Amino acid sequence: MVKAQPEFGEAILSDVLNTLDDFIMVTMEEPWALLEPMLQAKPREVIFNRDMQVETLEKIEKRELKAKWIVGFGGGTACDTGKYLSWKWGIPLITAPSIISVDAWLCTSIAVRVDHKVKYIGDVQPSRVLVDYSIVKRAPKALNRAGVSDTISITTALGDWLIARDAFGDKFDQDVFDEAKHVAENLMKSASDINAVNNRGIDALVKGYVDEVRICEAWGNARPEEGGEHFLAYCLEDITRGHYLHGNLIGLNILVVLKLQRDKAVFEVEKLKDFFDDIGLEYAPSKNGINRGSYRQALESVHAYVMQEKHLNGLWSLPNVFDDRGPCSLDGILDWAFSF
Ligand SMILES: [Zn+2]
Repeated sequence: MVKAQPEFGEAILSDVLNTLDDFIMVTMEEPWALLEPMLQAKPREVIFNRDMQVETLEKIEKRELKAKWIVGFGGGTACDTGKYLSWKWGIPLITAPSIISVDAWLCTSIAVRVDHKVKYIGDVQPSRVLVDYSIVKRAPKALNRAGVSDTISITTALGDWLIARDAFGDKFDQDVFDEAKHVAENLMKSASDINAVNNRGIDALVKGYVDEVRICEAWGNARPEEGGEHFLAYCLEDITRGHYLHGNLIGLNILVVLKLQRDKAVFEVEKLKDFFDDIGLEYAPSKNGINRGSYRQALESVHAYVMQEKHLNGLWSLPNVFDDRGPCSLDGILDWAFSF
């Protein structure tokens, strides 16, 4: 469970760090350049890491540094590295996002990559979670807007859950389902603030994450939030070995999965497309370096991929989701996605 509720403030990160006398900073160059001039207290050590491969993390871990605190400050990689080192070294953790782009800084689970595949290896509970408005707002707006993705993926995860229940007899809970649905609906009400990335928009993004993480951790896995939209992203990344802006790729995949979920879709695809347009999410494949050939390959192989990786049951666990012709055929979906 998330015990530390996020604390918000205009310059909360430097305010708090200036009261600590001994901490290790785990970050990346860009966010660090923003924060460093605001600090009176210098960290004992600044660790830069861009790579969650387990070999890279083990190399840092071997340094066996000591301090009273570890601060994970940045995007997903910095916060996840901070979590990993806090767990390995037994040092209390503070996390602070420099952008609201993924939920890593709130999740207690530690995600590393083994052979380019995500693996959860442990849990750590941050003592404090700090959301610094002034820092978050200095990141490119497009990155913060993309932060809707890991909450809004509830919209497809829920349809996948219905498929899993009806076609595979998976465990289902109507209360958890309704609660998750409510979180996604609430987030969609904040479209204009999210587009502006103002304080209210940042609050809405963070609240969505807090609720989503709480629901998933209470349920026991990411079922209410993660489904075919994520698995298709992992499959594409596996094929191309490419790095994509997570939120944009998830946005694209949400539209594709909602359309293919047909009568099991819990949200209307047009409503999601309008929401993405309202907040300015750049989900078009052409804007994300995704070409038609590799996206086709991902759609063709995602069924085999989820079977092999033993991902949760859902749309892609069905043996054949494409019609022979029409909008829900493979070419129909590709024509549609590449018209964005
Ligand atoms: Zn995600």
